[in-house]
Amino acid sequence: MYLYNLNFLLLVFLSICLVCIFILIFYIRKYYFRQIYNIVDLLSSINYSLDIDKILPQIMDKIMIILNPKKASLMLIDDKGVLKIKIARNISNYIIRGLELKPDKGVAGKAISLGKPILVKDISKSEHYYKIFKEDIKPLKKESLISIPIKFLDKNLGVLNLHFKTRSKFPKTKIEEIMLKIISQQLAGVINNCYIYLEAVSDKMTKFYNHHYIIKRLQEEIYYAQKYSLHLSLIMFDIDYFKNINDRYGHQAGDTVIMTVADITRENVRLTDILGRYGGEEFCIILPNTTLQEASNVAERLRKKIEENKIYTLNETIKVTCSFGVTEFNYKESMDEFLYRTDKLLYTAKNLGRNTVCL
Ligand code: GH3
Ligand code: MG
Ligand code: MG
Repeated sequence: MYLYNLNFLLLVFLSICLVCIFILIFYIRKYYFRQIYNIVDLLSSINYSLDIDKILPQIMDKIMIILNPKKASLMLIDDKGVLKIKIARNISNYIIRGLELKPDKGVAGKAISLGKPILVKDISKSEHYYKIFKEDIKPLKKESLISIPIKFLDKNLGVLNLHFKTRSKFPKTKIEEIMLKIISQQLAGVINNCYIYLEAVSDKMTKFYNHHYIIKRLQEEIYYAQKYSLHLSLIMFDIDYFKNINDRYGHQAGDTVIMTVADITRENVRLTDILGRYGGEEFCIILPNTTLQEASNVAERLRKKIEENKIYTLNETIKVTCSFGVTEFNYKESMDEFLYRTDKLLYTAKNLGRNTVCL
């Protein structure tokens, strides 16, 4: 009788163990299927675009859903080899705009120079992190950070930074490791394609969009403005008496003037404004979501900045001015009429004596 009871208990125990194992297998399978689904979802649902400003937000949103970090940022390496935040989630604008890291500086820079992901378990105690942020964030919150270098073939493109509340280890599982690899490779491929496209549609000297692209883009922005009833403004401007500069100081000095005017423009518009080299020394700015008054403020600010700026060439210090035409899109007009109106105002500014903004 006693033996019989023991056997029965053993059977019950074994049955419970078996059920537990089945439940465990079920949940592990479910977890893995979920993660695989997330990867497939990431790969398939990115609405492929060659415009870096359109595709990166989509990828970033997917990363937030799949990896669920507290904060995230993607830093890209610019022409001068400096890492700057291109896109971020849950990070203040102050940091997005201000943060610049040389490779080897900060955790992200270290990830680039070492060529492998770096995990910092507690950033508030990290010297690399602390040195850079101590003046900006007080006190630093306890959170972990993983910086993953984004590399296409041998070329370093940037770093993906993921902040977690607390994660002593990341990636924790093989599947997380695979996911990180897929995400970083996917990002590298997408960014590389965008760069190739950007080069094809940009003017080499100013890095502004070329004439062909800017017309195509204006057509697109008109479509969005009409569809969503948004404001859309256009600024056209041209360097005054530029031929004299070429004649007097030479073409090389002329080129420096064009590049300087382009740089001043880039520094004084919003990231969402679209810059084009319309012709030789004629530029245009498409300003989505912008009223005529706001666009005229931009033009006036630019006019002043260009007027005040001294351009140092090999032998000379040159000062230049520009004339501006500014218009807001009127829903009844065509793109050609919109362009014509703006161009006409630019020439009115020239006729009024130059160094002027005309609305
Ligand atoms: P305005 O005030 O009426 O605009 O006079 P302007 O002299 O600026 O106008 P114009 O159109 O007569 O001269 C533009 C000159 O710009 C002529 C052209 O040779 C020169 N140019 C165009 N592209 C480039 C360039 O890439 N580099 C240099 N150095 N010169 C250029
Ligand atoms: Mg000119
Ligand atoms: Mg001109």
